[in-house]
Amino acid sequence: MKTSTRVVVIGGGVVGASVLYHLTKLGWSDVMLLERSELTSGSTWHAAGGFHTLNGDTNMAALQGYTIGLYKELEEITGMSCGLHHVGGLTLADNQDRFDMLLAERAKHRYMGLETEIFGPEEIKTFAPIINTDGLIGALYDPLDGHLDPSGTTHAYAKAARLGGADIVTHTMVKETTQRLDGTWDVVTDKGTIHTEHVVNAAGLWAREVGAMAGVYLPLHPMEHQYIVTDDIADIYSRDTEHPHVMDPAGESYLRQEGRGLCIGFYEQPCRPWAVKGTPWSFGHELLPDDFDKIEDSIAFAYKRFPVLETAGVKSVIHGPFTFAPDGNPLVGPIPGLRGYWSACGVMAGFSQGGGVGLMLAQWMVHGECERDTSAMDVARFGDWVSPGYTLPKVIENYQTRFSVSYPNEELPAARPNRTTPMYDIYDKMGAVWGQQNGLEVVNYFATGDEPRFETPSFRRSNAFAATAREVHAVRNAVGINETHNFGKYVVTGADARNWLDRIMAGRIPNPGRLSLSPMLAPSGRIIGDFTVSCLSETEFRLTASYGAQSYHMRWFLQHLDGDVQIENISDRVTGFQIAGPHARDVLAACTHDDLAEIRFMDLRKMVVGMTECLVQRVSYTGDLGYEIFCDPMAQRQLWQTLWDAGSAFGMKPFGMRAMMSLRLDKHFGSWGRDYSPDYTPAETGLDRFIAWKKPAEFIGRTAAEAERDTPPDRMLVAFEVDAEDTDVNAYEPVWIDGKVQGFCTSGGYSHHLNKSIALALIPRKLYKDNLKVQIELLGKMRNSTLIQEIPFDADGARMRG
Ligand SMILES: Cc1cc2nc3c(=O)[nH]c(=O)nc-3n(C[C@H](O)[C@H](O)[C@H](O)COP(=O)(O)OP(=O)(O)OC[C@H]3O[C@@H](n4cnc5c(N)ncnc54)[C@H](O)[C@@H]3O)c2cc1C
Repeated sequence: MKTSTRVVVIGGGVVGASVLYHLTKLGWSDVMLLERSELTSGSTWHAAGGFHTLNGDTNMAALQGYTIGLYKELEEITGMSCGLHHVGGLTLADNQDRFDMLLAERAKHRYMGLETEIFGPEEIKTFAPIINTDGLIGALYDPLDGHLDPSGTTHAYAKAARLGGADIVTHTMVKETTQRLDGTWDVVTDKGTIHTEHVVNAAGLWAREVGAMAGVYLPLHPMEHQYIVTDDIADIYSRDTEHPHVMDPAGESYLRQEGRGLCIGFYEQPCRPWAVKGTPWSFGHELLPDDFDKIEDSIAFAYKRFPVLETAGVKSVIHGPFTFAPDGNPLVGPIPGLRGYWSACGVMAGFSQGGGVGLMLAQWMVHGECERDTSAMDVARFGDWVSPGYTLPKVIENYQTRFSVSYPNEELPAARPNRTTPMYDIYDKMGAVWGQQNGLEVVNYFATGDEPRFETPSFRRSNAFAATAREVHAVRNAVGINETHNFGKYVVTGADARNWLDRIMAGRIPNPGRLSLSPMLAPSGRIIGDFTVSCLSETEFRLTASYGAQSYHMRWFLQHLDGDVQIENISDRVTGFQIAGPHARDVLAACTHDDLAEIRFMDLRKMVVGMTECLVQRVSYTGDLGYEIFCDPMAQRQLWQTLWDAGSAFGMKPFGMRAMMSLRLDKHFGSWGRDYSPDYTPAETGLDRFIAWKKPAEFIGRTAAEAERDTPPDRMLVAFEVDAEDTDVNAYEPVWIDGKVQGFCTSGGYSHHLNKSIALALIPRKLYKDNLKVQIELLGKMRNSTLIQEIPFDADGARMRG
């Protein structure tokens, strides 16, 4: 066995094997995989081997498409069979919400180039005659759905990796991972120690234990899962072609042909987590005892949907564990703050996702960044606050909702409330309808009178519509107040702070007392942050960005820290309020002795508000006259009382995130994770207007950004007014121009101030023209939409700057 290598991948399941193959594919051949038993000895060997592209996250869906396409490549490279059965599959819908979800998915697939189709009950019956179509509205047909041989596929990945120069060592157990002072690693095994630059944790069922060896907590948990293989069924084996896959969300089941019979698996409600206290090292090639009790109801439902099952005998039962992260997506990427330690864990659908996970991780390791936005699978999407106590109920919830409709406005209830600000009970008494962001309870809107304290999950306008309108009108006509806790906040100090920021940020770093807006770019020029930079002094700056991106941004900052610079994440140590609207200045003036006339737009000042020293910034994402007022959390309730008391004379109302997201549309402000993300560049999204081209600093991404300035990219972000009825743009809806899909929406919603449905969308630059007419596909309907030329609210900024 080698004692030194560039990468050690721990774990020879489908994920570890895929990571290893992709590293060799991208040119790293001095790589090694360690497996404590044989390849596939975790979840992989007993998987049902099904694959599909359907995923609520569009980037994940695209990577699932990549994974499926990869199997042919593996077969060609290795001459081995993955046992592929590309039989196509149906996802059934028995109610309008499920059907809406399929329509929304179908629409997204158009611009992703996936050839899915919507089937009606007749087509379902023709395609898959064993389905009882009573009560079905339709189905999504995906020709890419199919299944494979899990073991053969893992061995094909392994062979392809070996052909690329990788070493695979089985029957070698990793016992310790220890970091040396220079950041490299000693991987201690029962057969000796290997010195390596990079460790990849792909230990699947044992990922928690392997993570703990490096002091890393990975938020994942194994769940028990069961599928049944039937005896031969005449209706199946007498067919000319193999029966297609069927996902039946109402029955929480998936079904496919297995030999001359069927195989059906369930995501049952009375599900059970496995190995709560840790995965035993003794577990390997065994199964869990059959448990028909917990799937009794699921089986009864399946008999109705697939009547042939009722008389079919059971040939075998497969009951085994596999891991989930709290939101069901994989945990991939560099562990924040730990050099050379990478996660490739929590992959709950290894045969749909393993290829994409391997590709992204290998790109990250070899090129320093991935070709697309990986935020849905980035291990950094969970912050330091995450714990096993949080993970377990979320994982159970995830298992139970695996086949549920996933709505754009849905707030899942498990493990909540978790983190709250001092305002929680005050807002709760005022009728707050809560949402959750990065573990923090945030107000979505305030219900009043008889309005329910619950937003109905929907693809259409929800019951939050009227409340959101009220709050928007309060902001635009009087003054609104909401918390600033859910901003990611950082303090940057030190003699080199300005120089460092000049290199990290593409925008202008402001002078003392001033703010600036700045994109942060990757070397490829893609957007990895959208910041407000505040200069308190030449050696003290604050940064404000997305609350959900804290670990992602801190990881980047720490990776690029040099010189006399310190950076701290103070997101939860600083809180406060923003007040916005025509009376915002009047309210603040009533709470302070400072002269507000001196505070211009984009100024910041320390001032006493009520009894509290605050940092006040004159800026607002609402696009209105507004102030962000930051304080110590210990003083937040007092500050609230001060502002609230003063606000009553000016008609102040609290507002939530739903109103905020509507208000920003009036100014066509993009939002992080939607319109601004690593999938896009400044020149595509218009953020190039904030790049400080004249600054001498060689900021990260400069070369790429300059190249785009000289040769503008093919697409550009624009706004449309959509002729919508009861549903608005969410994200990724296709934009049809001249009868073809030529663009897609990045975000949208209803502007309650303008009384218009608005979409932000990327379209081909060459098609841009005044009053461009397009159609946007919303839930299967073509909606006429017109390009908006002028910013419709406060176009000259008189109000915001006034
Ligand atoms: C019943 C069932 C049905 C399923 N059906 C499907 C399906 O149809 N489609 C689908 O896509 N997915 C399915 N899955 C999920 C799928 O099995 C997993 O997504 C996949 O196997 C995860 O692979 P992995 O490589 O991450 O982990 P694992 O397969 O668990 O592999 C981890 C490997 O790491 C090794 N290891 C751990 N610790 C060490 C150590 N200290 N030293 C050395 N080696 C170590 C283990 O021995 C193991 O081989 C199913 C799962 C179950 C339980």
